[in-house]
Amino acid sequence: MKILISADMEGATGVTWPADVLPGTPQWERCRSMFTSDVNAAVQGFFDGGADEVLINEAHWTMRNLLLEQLDERAEMLTGRHKALSMVEGVQHDDVDGIAFIGYHAGAGMEGVLAHTFLANSITGVWVNDVRASEGLLNAHVVAEYGVPVILVTGDDVACEDALGYAPEARKVAVKDHVSRYAAVCRTPARTAAEIRAAAKEAAALAVRREPVDGGPFTVAVEFDAEHLAMAATVVPGVARTGERRVAYTSATMYEGIRTFKAVTTIASNAVEEQYG
Ligand SMILES: [Zn+2]
Repeated sequence: MKILISADMEGATGVTWPADVLPGTPQWERCRSMFTSDVNAAVQGFFDGGADEVLINEAHWTMRNLLLEQLDERAEMLTGRHKALSMVEGVQHDDVDGIAFIGYHAGAGMEGVLAHTFLANSITGVWVNDVRASEGLLNAHVVAEYGVPVILVTGDDVACEDALGYAPEARKVAVKDHVSRYAAVCRTPARTAAEIRAAAKEAAALAVRREPVDGGPFTVAVEFDAEHLAMAATVVPGVARTGERRVAYTSATMYEGIRTFKAVTTIASNAVEEQYG
């Protein structure tokens, strides 16, 4: 049994504001070890539950955050950027039986700690076939196309609630309860590690490959906080303007859908000016 872990940082234990997840800051240095603790607890729980292999895919920002030297030696870690499937890279190799979303968070425009979708700001909402989308939902559509179930989700209470929509059977662990976008009631790493490890052990039983799901076509709508970002995003082939601050495109699969989304967000982020946005 092989488990893939997609590890994002905003939903990690103790993380509540931008400096906690911004590479290079002292706060980020401190929070890296709590992030690593969450991921390591999942690794240990999956091995407790009978996994033979666990691959961790770093999914936050530069994708260089986790402390490899603190991980259980049975795990392997994919670090660094530029991967065909970004946050769920590795799922396409037909050897993964289940995937865990660790440190996930609510989507752009939703309530929740550090809520966003791909870009830290600028995007105010994403919809897939008119359903409000988080990164968890987008990635769940991708992994379903490879027949891989989402078996465990950790993050704040809102991220866990969000996961009820895209992975109802998955085990969920809320490591903190949101108060605002930048505040949460946090539990200690020792306590959340114990909860994550226990949940991962149980979740391992859900790691059974399914029939690949052909859920397309997917119409993805993206709303920005400024008009010029919508205009800029239309240089991506297939992306059309649908409103003053909105664009949309349709993809036959979410494999294509997530790759187009990456192009849209990359173009839009490069069109943001420091002062006026
Ligand atoms: Zn994220």
